[in-house]
Amino acid sequence: MTAKLVADRTEDLLRTHPPGTTGRHAFLTAQYEAGLAWVHFPEGLGGLGMARALQREVDTRLAAAGAPDGASANRLGYSMGAAVLLAYGTREQQERFLRPIFTGDERWCQLFSEPGAGSDLASVTTRAVRSGDEWVVNGQKVWSSMANISAVGMLLARTDPDAPKHHGLTYFLVDMRSPGVDVRPLRQMTGEAEFNEVYLTDVRIPDSARIGPVSAGWQVALATLMNERVLFNRERPEKGPVDEALDLYRQRAVPDPELRTRMIDLWIRARVQRLGTARAAANLAAGTPGPEGSTGKLAYTHLIQEAYELCLDLLGDESMLYDSYAMTAYSEETFAGRVEHDVRRRFLRSRATTIEGGTSEILRTILAERTLGLPRASHPPRTNR
Ligand SMILES: Cc1cc2nc3c(=O)[nH]c(=O)nc-3n(C[C@H](O)[C@H](O)[C@H](O)COP(=O)(O)OP(=O)(O)OC[C@H]3O[C@@H](n4cnc5c(N)ncnc54)[C@H](O)[C@@H]3O)c2cc1C
Repeated sequence: MTAKLVADRTEDLLRTHPPGTTGRHAFLTAQYEAGLAWVHFPEGLGGLGMARALQREVDTRLAAAGAPDGASANRLGYSMGAAVLLAYGTREQQERFLRPIFTGDERWCQLFSEPGAGSDLASVTTRAVRSGDEWVVNGQKVWSSMANISAVGMLLARTDPDAPKHHGLTYFLVDMRSPGVDVRPLRQMTGEAEFNEVYLTDVRIPDSARIGPVSAGWQVALATLMNERVLFNRERPEKGPVDEALDLYRQRAVPDPELRTRMIDLWIRARVQRLGTARAAANLAAGTPGPEGSTGKLAYTHLIQEAYELCLDLLGDESMLYDSYAMTAYSEETFAGRVEHDVRRRFLRSRATTIEGGTSEILRTILAERTLGLPRASHPPRTNR
C-alpha cells in the first residue's frame, strides 16, 4: 500500500511538472512539497514518514523520466546535512534548512578537518566561546570542499578545552557569508580548486544554530561521517567507472591477456559491490548507518582507482595528454558547467577517494574492530575518525 502511494505520488509529480518543460528549481520545490525528497522524513519536511528503501524507487523513476537530481548540486547538504538535521536538529532548524538544501538554494560544506586534525578528528582546536546568545569562533579549517560556493558550513568546534577531547566539542551551522569567514581555494592535482582553506576570525554564530547539546558535537560529527561514507557507496543508476573501462576496452580491442584479466576481475568485483550496496541499502531501515558504510566505501574507492588505472593503460600514450592543470576555483558557473568527461581527469581525481571521508587505513581499523570483532591494536590508533 505504501509503495503504491509513493509510486502514485511520483507519477502525479511527473504529470503536473513534466521535467521537459519544468525548470530545475520549480521541479525540486514540487518534489519536496510532495514528500518525495526523502520519503522517510516526516510529512511537511520533504518526506512522507515511509520506509527509506522506497526513496530508491522514486529516484529511479524520476531519473528515467529525465527529472533533475536534488543531490547533484548539493551533495554534502543532501546526504549529510539533511540526515544530521533529522537526527539532531530542532523542528525550527529542520523547517529552516531542509527545503533550501533540497532545492539547491543553499549549498552546504563540511568544516571538520584542520591542519592538525584529519584522521584524528577529535583533536580539532577551532574554539567557540559563548557570549550571551551567541558563540564567537576562531580557528582554521582545511580541505573544505566547495566552501567557496556554500551558504552553510557544518562546523565542529571546541567549546570546552578542559574536557577530554571527545567531550569538549560542539556542532554548529555557520553562515558562510558571516563577517570573519575567509575562504581561500586550494589547487588540487587536477588543476581544480575543489576544496579550500577556511579561516574563522571572531565569527559570531547564534546559539540557535547549534546542532545537538553543548559538548555533544562528537556524536553529531560521527553521524555526519557515517552518512558521508554511504555517499561513496550509494547505488548509482548511471554508468560506473568499471563500465567506462569496459567501453574503452571494447573500443580499443586490446589483445593483451593481462589487461583482459584485469578487466574481468574488475567487472566481477563491481557486480559483487553492487549486490553488497543493494543489501546494505535494504538493511538500512532508517536513522544512522552503521559500519557497513565504511566497508563499502573502502571497497568501492579502491575499485574506482583500479578501474581508472586500467583506463589509462588502455589509452597508452594518450593517457599523458592531460593539459588542464590551470587553476580553476569553483564558481556557480564552473561548478554547473564543469566538464567531467575526460577519463584522465577522473583518474587524477580518483586518487583522492581513498583519503576523503576517512582514509582506507582508518576504515580498515573500523572494519577490523567493529565488523570482525578483532582485538584492538596493542597501541591503539590515535585516530577516532
Ligand atoms: C578531495 C578531498 C575532499 C575533502 N573534503 C573535506 C571536507 O569537505 N571537509 C573536511 O572537513 N575534510 C575534507 N577532506 C579531508 C579528509 O577528511 C582528510 O584528508 C582525511 O580525514 C585524512 O586526514 P589528513 O589529510 O589530515 O591525513 P592524516 O590524518 O594526517 O593521515 C596521514 C596518513 O596517515 C594515516 N593514518 C593516520 N592515522 C592513522 C592510524 N591511526 N592508523 C593508521 N594510519 C593512520 C592516514 O591513513 C594517511 O595515510 C577532504 C579530503 C580530500 C582528499
